[in-house]
Amino acid sequence: MKIFVLNCGSSSVKFQLIETDLERISKEDEIVLARGIVEKIGLSPAIMRYQVVNKNPLFLAEKKDELPPEEKTPMEIQDHGEAITSALKALTDPKKGVVSSPDEIAAVGHRVVHGGERFKESVVINEEVLKSITACVEFAPLHNPHNLRGYYACKELLPHCPHVAIFDTAFHQSMPRRAFLYGLPYQIYQKYGIRRYGFHGVSHRYVSYRLGQLCGTHRDYMKVITCHLGNGCSCAAIDHGKSIDTSMGFTPLEGLLMGTRTGDLDPSIILTLIAKEELTLGEANNLMNKHSGLLGISGVSSDMREIQKAAEEGNERAQLAIDMFCYRMRKYIAAYAASMGGVDHVVFTGGIGENSPLIRKQSCEGLQFMGIEIDDEKNEACAGREGKISLETANVGVWAIPTNEELVYARDTVRCISGQIKEEPRPTAVKR
Ligand code: ADP
Repeated sequence: MKIFVLNCGSSSVKFQLIETDLERISKEDEIVLARGIVEKIGLSPAIMRYQVVNKNPLFLAEKKDELPPEEKTPMEIQDHGEAITSALKALTDPKKGVVSSPDEIAAVGHRVVHGGERFKESVVINEEVLKSITACVEFAPLHNPHNLRGYYACKELLPHCPHVAIFDTAFHQSMPRRAFLYGLPYQIYQKYGIRRYGFHGVSHRYVSYRLGQLCGTHRDYMKVITCHLGNGCSCAAIDHGKSIDTSMGFTPLEGLLMGTRTGDLDPSIILTLIAKEELTLGEANNLMNKHSGLLGISGVSSDMREIQKAAEEGNERAQLAIDMFCYRMRKYIAAYAASMGGVDHVVFTGGIGENSPLIRKQSCEGLQFMGIEIDDEKNEACAGREGKISLETANVGVWAIPTNEELVYARDTVRCISGQIKEEPRPTAVKR
């Protein structure tokens, strides 16, 4: 069956049409029919990029360069509804389309960032589920409203088929209280739900699963640390298939150094700055989320490629940003090994994790004492493609694995509509 997957941001809509069903999932025999993104929604013009793929998702990860060229079209697109309409038009176009009518779409999978404490798995969207997603807007005000907007627009365009929500937070709902609580009065958690939720769950889940296929041992039998390093960065401790800790917290601000976010920070610093610079809450928020991290330290860019280039050319602050980024990575890897009482594999993914041998190597430096040793040749060879990058003699396997969140959206959509994933009955009141 044909599954349309959607990832709606504030000014962009990413989409894929994927041919899959339970049998294809079991055989890893899916086909990405086409994919695209509408960017700069609301600006004049917006840009629509579209590509017919007709390939297995793994081919897509390994051999992107061999695909037909992407079509890039400027368009007037004012909102998510118009963006999804344009996507459906491209998918059903007589020349470049891959289906003859939207009626061929069996179901839609929507990425939803925050599912709070309720959603431990993906779920078919109904009125009651929508209420819960709406209640999580307060936790993810920059994401959930756009995810919802995309859903409402798409439901109108494709009313015939079921719609499924796949949450970034769900995979981390297995964390124990000792990992998800902050050292604040317990009542604050009870009253406001302030706790660690974690994000990038779909990516952590996918790469730990894919690792199982590559190394021949299911993730349920291993201790794995997954590092998703993109513009936002997080790592997770996955103990026998379950996330037991992750570096992003109540919001995506905590943890690793990121493109423009601080990561871990003594909370008093922000109180001090609010007082000294007379910052409003909005300004303080912007400072921590938009002007810090790699950008704030290097003064060059939030883009790791540009920072690496500047560092090579002798820019000291760019080098400092790289050193801080990798040092913090290294601390988290060691900490999560301690959380799990050991580690069998470390996986790097996301734009930086998949493409930067330098960052992978430097993040593992000094960890030889715990069995982590990088094979330089393999590490260099795995720029942008999957493979093992540690020495064969090392105790811990280190891997580069391109993530594929869209594939998980499609698979979970199939599993939900076929009844393989069912939400457990919900307690009438959440007991904290
Ligand atoms: P997002 O979190 O927005 O999905 P990505 O996963 O695409 O972001 O990652 C973006 C980051 O990946 C940027 O910092 C970019 O510089 C970095 N990146 C992409 N390619 C490379 C590369 N070849 N070397 C180093 N960094 C790279």
